Amino acid sequence: MNEIFIATMNKGKVAEFEAFFIDQGITVKSLLDLEEEIEIIEDGKTFEENAIKKAEEIGKRINKPVIADDSGLEVDALGGKPGIYSARYAGTEKSDQANIYKLLNEMSSVPTDKRTARFVCALAVYIPGSKTKVVRGICEGIITEVEKGNKGFGYDPIFYLPELGKTMSQIDRSEKNKRSHRYDALKKLKNNWNEWM
Ligand code: IMP
Repeated sequence: MNEIFIATMNKGKVAEFEAFFIDQGITVKSLLDLEEEIEIIEDGKTFEENAIKKAEEIGKRINKPVIADDSGLEVDALGGKPGIYSARYAGTEKSDQANIYKLLNEMSSVPTDKRTARFVCALAVYIPGSKTKVVRGICEGIITEVEKGNKGFGYDPIFYLPELGKTMSQIDRSEKNKRSHRYDALKKLKNNWNEWM
């Protein structure tokens, strides 16, 4: 294989995958390189189901190897919410700020030791003619009571990393990339790559 297609329009994610595949001499392409727009309805019940559906639908359409991801935040005190609904937790307009307000509001009476949470990333790999593979990466943290920092996106300003004493929004992108749920999933992909290809 000399080319892999990443099912995303997000340039930051494309860059993370390019860094990963460069060593293996594999060129990375993404939805940004396609002329037609492909819309996938994410109606799975888990991150894995959504990632597999995206990888397979796009892979069958273009008949090439495809990697797709689905990610989000699981908060223990909320029984794993917002989970697969992370992007649209406060409504379909997908506002990061509205999602954060909603989450902090629901957590207002939860004490610090019960504010544990994790970012999750499922990565699915579709290769034409093979069974689709999937890995799960995680990044553990604690939900803060107020927002801190101005970097990153999504729930980063309220996701505290105890080992750094900072939120995800207070660290640089390079630092985040080394400890994120996506990086953890990519490491697991790397460990299995030769066996799966
Ligand atoms: P996606 O699957 O990458 O589109 O992520 C879905 C949603 O999960 C995003 O809209 C964010 O709300 C949340 N999310 C995923 N990854 C991160 C992250 O690294 N930081 C903050 N929020 C994230």
